[in-house]
Amino acid sequence: MKRLLLLAALACSTAFAGEKIIVIDPGHGGPADSGSQKERTLSSSNNATSPGKLLEKNLTLELSLEVAKQLAAHHSGLKPVLTRTQDENPDFAKRAAFCAAAKPVAIFSIHFNASDNHAGLGTTAVVAAKGGNPNYSDDEAFAKGLIAAAHRVVVKFVPNSTALAVIPDSHLHGGAGSNFFHQLAKYPELRAVPKCFLEVEFIDRKDVETELLAKRGEAFPQIARAIADYLATRFE
Ligand SMILES: [Zn+2]
Repeated sequence: MKRLLLLAALACSTAFAGEKIIVIDPGHGGPADSGSQKERTLSSSNNATSPGKLLEKNLTLELSLEVAKQLAAHHSGLKPVLTRTQDENPDFAKRAAFCAAAKPVAIFSIHFNASDNHAGLGTTAVVAAKGGNPNYSDDEAFAKGLIAAAHRVVVKFVPNSTALAVIPDSHLHGGAGSNFFHQLAKYPELRAVPKCFLEVEFIDRKDVETELLAKRGEAFPQIARAIADYLATRFE
């Protein structure tokens, strides 16, 4: 029942005067990729997968819903809205249009990471690279705050994890950058709104599966609370 009420609240995007909206974007989703790379709208259905076959797209939704729940419970001055609340994959034109309509004070995507040699470990975030991003320093500060908040909890479960540096998006799509940032840049009113992708932890490792993912019933509410508290200090 609580979950139903929360979903109803998330679906209602009518903002009241003075209300501060936070857009949370659960990365990936659905049964298939959506959009196209030619249009710079392509959103992949799933990227990272754990050794035990947990899918990033489900973990991003689970944690995003938890952040919304923690905000609603502890920081009523901030109103969370999600770009998706079920297993679907809006392309990046749709996600960006949703963000613009929400008139938010901040936008962040939640992702989990993987590396080619399955050796990557740590919490990081991706921001739109300096060239062409007039809001770079604020985006970087926002990303650092989210990394610190999430990592403070992640490291309790994965002792070897480190808080990594913020990564510019210039490595994505052969140097073209993130499709999400590209689509968001079409809305001038969102230019000064801090935005980033939070990459909570690398999940393509046995130790992370055992120490963090298997205990996510305990870990995710704590990570979500830490993120919610950070958002409140920054925006409430
Ligand atoms: Zn991802």
